[in-house]
Amino acid sequence: MNQVEKFIEFVQEQYKTTDFIPLHEPRFLGNEKKYVLETIESTFVSSVGAYVDKFEEMMAEISQTKRAVAVVNGTAALQVALRLAGVKESDEVITQALTFVATANAIAYNNAKPVFLDVDVDTMGLSPKAVESFLEEYGELREEGCYNNRTGRKISACLPMHTFGFPVHLNELLEVCDKWNIPVVEDAAESIGSNYHGKPTGSFGQFGIYSFNGNKIVTAGGGGAIVTNDKQSGDFAKHLTTTAKKNHKYEYIHDEVGHNYRMPNLNAALICAQLEQLNSFIENKRKLAERYESFFEEKGIQFRTENPDTKANYWLMCVELNDRKERDLFLNQTNKKGVMTRPIWQLMHKLPMYAHCFRDTQKNAEYLEGRIVNIPSSVIINE
Ligand SMILES: *Cc1c(COP(=O)(O)O)cnc(C)c1O
Repeated sequence: MNQVEKFIEFVQEQYKTTDFIPLHEPRFLGNEKKYVLETIESTFVSSVGAYVDKFEEMMAEISQTKRAVAVVNGTAALQVALRLAGVKESDEVITQALTFVATANAIAYNNAKPVFLDVDVDTMGLSPKAVESFLEEYGELREEGCYNNRTGRKISACLPMHTFGFPVHLNELLEVCDKWNIPVVEDAAESIGSNYHGKPTGSFGQFGIYSFNGNKIVTAGGGGAIVTNDKQSGDFAKHLTTTAKKNHKYEYIHDEVGHNYRMPNLNAALICAQLEQLNSFIENKRKLAERYESFFEEKGIQFRTENPDTKANYWLMCVELNDRKERDLFLNQTNKKGVMTRPIWQLMHKLPMYAHCFRDTQKNAEYLEGRIVNIPSSVIINE
């Protein structure tokens, strides 16, 4: 029996099934039905309701920030967070090419230009060193902020993404961005519950965002949140995502072009019940990660584990294979047998709409793109 067959058998043992095993499926094991039924019975299914408020309180606590704002999805959260961080038309935003497309799209929605810099091999997230060398070559510090001296454009934000729940090197990144006066917005869509030096990812930048899409650790079907330690910015995020409507008992008064990015109370009910289980889900996943780690250690395959001084939520677990050929064999064999696996994303500058964007060597991103594969990571029931 070859190693991949042994892996397939191992996964089937973990999930106690020989049926199709997806990468990540939701688990509704708590108060989901109760809260959703309550919401239907209250008739407050739409964007005003007790669960939206409760969700925002829970998220502020989980992210250890002063204000959380519920929005319709993580992409909308990113778009608005960038706008609030000061990103304007024709500006540049530093980010990584190794990410889910929403990160780059949110920059494009603001009519700004992504600048794709390399990732670190150990975190798979934006490399502080890559940002530093880019800024040393092209950065120009003016009174109004940092400018790219080659393009003349303002570099108005830096958007790191915590890949699969593994935190980027935040201290080093914040230090560089601070030096160049560039606000940081964290794409923590995948890293709810992950910590860096004991503090939640999402709480380090001017803004952080989370996603509650169907494939994330906790889900509302769809949903997102913006978090910040600046209460005023948080209140403004709420205003912008609720059609910029002024508070008035009965009149419609809007003071700018806002968005209808509100999270319905029905979804908020579901997500509140899910958030109550966040810690138990993460503990469950960390135990699975330990079992994967010892399984792969024996086989001489590298299973990705968290870095020192960080705690990963192990949203999507992954292995690093030796090369693209070995990767493709692994993908083929596992998917044929109903054990779902998937390669990490194609680098953003390989997609037609981002092909023209600036990018550095992408040495580490290229290395990872050809080797990293996600493996089934759902919470295991009846542990
Ligand atoms: C899931 C995700 C988002 C946002 O996703 P939505 O589906 O809009 O909630 C953004 N960035 C990354 C990296 C993601 O994985």
